Amino acid sequence: MARSPRPAPALTLDSAATYLKGAGPFVAQRLRQLGIERVGELLLHLPTRYQDRRRTTPLSALNPGGEALIVAQVTGCELGYSPRRNLRVLVEADNRALLLRFFHFSEWQQRGFVAGLWVRAWGTVRHGAYGAEMIHPEYRLSESPDQLADGESWQPVYPTVAGLTQVRLRLLIGHALAVAADDPRLSEVLPGLGGPPTPAALRALHQPAAETEAAELLHPANPARLRLIREELLAHQLCMRLVRSRTRLQHAAHLPGVEQAAAVLQEHLPFVLTGAQRRVIGEIAGDLTSGRPMLRLVQGDVGCGKTLVAASAMLAAARAGRQALMMAPTELLAEQHARNLSRWLEPLNVTVGLLSGRLKAAARNAALAAAASGRIKIWVGTHALFQQQVAFQDLTLMVIDEQHRFGVAQRLALHEKARDGLAHQLIMSATPIPRTLAQTLYADLDVSVIDELPPGRRPVVTVALSNQRRSEVLERIGAACRTGRQAYWVCTLIEESEQLQAQAAEAAFRQLREELPELRVGLLHGRMKPAGKDVQMSAFAAGTTQLLVATTVIEVGVDVPNASIMVIENAERLGLAQLHQLRGRVGRGDRDSQCVLLYQLPLSAVARARLEVMRQTHDGFAIARRDLELRGPGELLGRRQTGLIGLKVADPLRDSPLIPSLQRLADDWLTHHPATARTLIRRWIGDAARYGQV
Ligand code: ADP
Ligand code: MG
Repeated sequence: MARSPRPAPALTLDSAATYLKGAGPFVAQRLRQLGIERVGELLLHLPTRYQDRRRTTPLSALNPGGEALIVAQVTGCELGYSPRRNLRVLVEADNRALLLRFFHFSEWQQRGFVAGLWVRAWGTVRHGAYGAEMIHPEYRLSESPDQLADGESWQPVYPTVAGLTQVRLRLLIGHALAVAADDPRLSEVLPGLGGPPTPAALRALHQPAAETEAAELLHPANPARLRLIREELLAHQLCMRLVRSRTRLQHAAHLPGVEQAAAVLQEHLPFVLTGAQRRVIGEIAGDLTSGRPMLRLVQGDVGCGKTLVAASAMLAAARAGRQALMMAPTELLAEQHARNLSRWLEPLNVTVGLLSGRLKAAARNAALAAAASGRIKIWVGTHALFQQQVAFQDLTLMVIDEQHRFGVAQRLALHEKARDGLAHQLIMSATPIPRTLAQTLYADLDVSVIDELPPGRRPVVTVALSNQRRSEVLERIGAACRTGRQAYWVCTLIEESEQLQAQAAEAAFRQLREELPELRVGLLHGRMKPAGKDVQMSAFAAGTTQLLVATTVIEVGVDVPNASIMVIENAERLGLAQLHQLRGRVGRGDRDSQCVLLYQLPLSAVARARLEVMRQTHDGFAIARRDLELRGPGELLGRRQTGLIGLKVADPLRDSPLIPSLQRLADDWLTHHPATARTLIRRWIGDAARYGQV
């Protein structure tokens, strides 16, 4: 695409990332998916791991499954057609051969592999049908091996989305580091924080020196990382303090009738609200009649019935002629909430509207009009709402589900959707953490706990099996599905790319369909088109498909009560919190449920302990405590961080010991260094001006 010439302004950290060389509209859109709009945000997008490219490996020393950097000579290049069209490049060094294979390649690439040229390639080594191979390695060609011999260093690997390569990200972040070097605000001294100055800390993590030890790189006690962790936690503490003091001064609508609304709902429900649900509804009722904006976090284990508690408050809003909105972190979940709310509220003549990013123009315009005119009172939406020009007539209550996916900044942005003053906020989290920790992490919120599950729930029987026993598991699933039960098969893959995850799920889907030919098997992953996801989800909910192969997209909130078996492949790769969330998808109906944790040997001691915890307990709070103990303060960062409150480097559970001293520091800064506080909030959270007058 032709790019229009751009002016070349002096770039700052606030400049749009699109001004960086190499960031055209396509790249900009991908960056936006990662939450990156400005140059400064690019800097805070940190690697989740590093590749050791400091030396090359001789072809004789390659280990299947490992990553390696090799230099070898091209001896041939041909097209293969099995399993599908692919480019096969044979290379040789020291009388050893290696195959480089490409499934996506251009003619230009194909012509480049001239026999006799030397190639330097980086990739994962596999044992293929023709011996050792690398699929889609990163590579560079040259006429002589000397030009390829120069050592590289640690290569950062960033979380990314399809269409945005690691090479491109590294390039852009390199540019951003150069901008940072010239920006005085980044070198501003931050009183009381210690550690290396910000620019040095950022450089140490993005472009580690070759001498750095592998173990240091990801360790949370690495001085550079620790510095950024403390910065980020401090920024959040500052922001929450400001929000809290500001909101407490504001007025919010007086909204009575929550308990009455719950009673009305109860009349139409096939079950009785639990005591804990009623207690929390009472706490919410108190908030909504206080005249001040509610800021309440409702914590409760998976399946405790948070949605219904929120529905009671939303119904009260509708009955008072006001609007209420429920936000979900995924489209899948938003649609499910819309279905549940409709089921509960439409018999009471209350219409539920869905505002999703995927509505077609006409439907979208109709929805926007109904929101703006106030014709529809109850709304469900996704975080796509943050970006959209949605206006409400009288938004009084916002419910945010599965809050660990939202940061304080996003919650604040939502406030702006309220017509005047502030809307009441109810935040629901299924990540059980001890109340005291919750109060420090969410210093701006009041906390309620639903500590009771609906009666009659039977614990999910959990077994851990080595995947050598996969065939037994298949037999059991086949037998169970024949008796009308349904099962999830969850594929886990720790990878930076959604695309690879999708491929793994597709492969598992094909294999399971062959292994269990009598079953109707469905497939669900994050890369599917929205319509495809809908079809799959409704087919499973309706019982049309019996076995649903899925990635961890189903982790959050999915509710299909008839599904009573879950198999988690490579369960050893997941953390406890994630395993617990996944397992919470079964055990929702009235029959016995099973969860099979399939693992791959060898198991590390921590992985073994985690599986043991899952076998022994179902209590989310107990699991969270064990998670903390098992992770210990010294554990390396997982590749996939389950950010609780939208943090970038800090992990609130692991880093919670740092919080008390940072809270004191926050108080000190607000009194003595308000301008610095503003700088830090702006760096880590965004536009400080919106978050209260510092
Ligand atoms: P979570 O707290 O994990 O969001 P949900 O709100 O999805 O849980 O509720 C899980 C399931 O339990 C839903 O199918 C819901 O209808 C049902 N449920 C909620 N409250 C009760 C109750 N008091 N008794 C029985 N079932 C309930
Ligand atoms: Mg839920």
